[in-house]
Amino acid sequence: MNAPTITNITTIATAPSGIPLLVVRVDTSEEGLYGLGCATFAWRWSAVREVVESYLRPALVGRPVTAIRDTFHLAHRNAYWRSGPVLNNAVSGVDMALWDIAGKRAGMPCCDLWGGAVRSSVDVYTHANGQSVEELRESVARLADEGYRFIRCQLAGYGPRAEAATGAASVISPSDRIASIVDMFERIVPDLPDGVRTLHDVHERLHPTDAMQLAEKLDRFDLFFLEDLFAPESVDWFRRARERLRTPLAMGELFCSPAELNTLVEEGLIDYMRVHPSFYGGITPCLDLAVRCEAKHIRTAWHGPGDLSPVGAAANVHMDFAAPNFGIQEWVIRSELEYEMFPGLPAVKNGRIEPPTAPGLGVDIDLQLAERYPAGVEPTRWTHTRFDDGGLTYP
Ligand code: MG
Repeated sequence: MNAPTITNITTIATAPSGIPLLVVRVDTSEEGLYGLGCATFAWRWSAVREVVESYLRPALVGRPVTAIRDTFHLAHRNAYWRSGPVLNNAVSGVDMALWDIAGKRAGMPCCDLWGGAVRSSVDVYTHANGQSVEELRESVARLADEGYRFIRCQLAGYGPRAEAATGAASVISPSDRIASIVDMFERIVPDLPDGVRTLHDVHERLHPTDAMQLAEKLDRFDLFFLEDLFAPESVDWFRRARERLRTPLAMGELFCSPAELNTLVEEGLIDYMRVHPSFYGGITPCLDLAVRCEAKHIRTAWHGPGDLSPVGAAANVHMDFAAPNFGIQEWVIRSELEYEMFPGLPAVKNGRIEPPTAPGLGVDIDLQLAERYPAGVEPTRWTHTRFDDGGLTYP
C-alpha cells in the first residue's frame, strides 16, 4: 500500500499568553490524518510563516509522509544556504508534524516509535522569580509546595528592568549583578525546602571574565546546573570553566547547527545539552544530537521556555522518555487557556510528567480558540539589553 502524501502545509499563529506561537499543520491524502509541529520563533514569527508557506509548501506537497529524514534534509538544503533560526523553525514545523503523523499512523506515542520509554517519569524544573530575595523566597516555597524539586532561581529575571528612557528593557551593572546573584543564593540556599535543588541562568549577559568570577563564587552553592554562562560566540571559555569549576554546566538554546556544537560535545565541555528543538530544525536532528551527546556522557535538557508552543513542549517530553541520557526538562507552568487551546498538552504532577499514551505527539489545537488570540507584532524591546555604560550586551 502506498503511503499517504502531503497535500497541504499551513501555519497557525496564536498568542494565548501574549507570546506569539507558530504551529505548522501538515495535511495528508488520508482522510482526517494530519500532523502538528512547532515553528515558534516568537521574535520573528512572520518570517518563519513566510518560509513555510512560500517555500516549503510548494517544495514538499506530494511527498510521502513516511520520508521524514529525507524531507528534513531536502527542506534544510533546498535553499542552498542552510540553518539559521528562521529556516530551521520552518523545517522543524514540518519535521515534527511528520513524526506526529507517523505516530498516529502506527497508533503509538512518538516515544514508542523511538524504542519505547526508558523511564517511568520525567523530572522537570520550573522557574522561580522575584524582584527581591523575599519575593523569590515566596516563589520557591510556593513551587516546592506544588511538588517541584528542581527550581531555577532568578532575581529580577535575567537582570534589572531599565528606565524606559534608555530604550532597553534591561540594564546590567556587571559588578552589581554578580554581587546580587551571590547574595541571592547566600540567602536562599540555607532555607531551601527539603529535597529542593536550585538552578540558575546567566543568560550570556556578562562578559566572559565577569561570568567566570560569578561562576567561581557560585560553586559553593551546589547548583543542579548553571546555564548559559557564556555566549555561543565565547565557547572557548568553557575549556577554562571546565578546569576551574565543579558546578555542572548547561548550554545550547542558541545553537542552530550540529557543527556549532563540535567543540562543546567532542571535548565534553558541558554536562547538559539545552538545544531548542525547533531552532535546531526539529525532532530528526535532535534525536541524532541526543545519541551524539550520550557518547560523551552529556545529558539532555531540551529548552522549554514560554516562547515554545505546547506542540514543541510535547515533542520535548517524547524525546525525554526515549533518551537513555535524559537529564531534566525545563517546564514553564502553562495557563488554563493553553491547556484548553492545545488539548493533550502534557501535565505536571509533583514535579514530574507521566509517559504519554496518545498516538503521535498527542497534542491537538482548537483552531477557533487559537483564532481568538491572534499573534501580534513581534516584540523587540525584551531582547534589548545594555550594560550600565550604555554598551549592548546579549539579550
Ligand atoms: Mg536559558
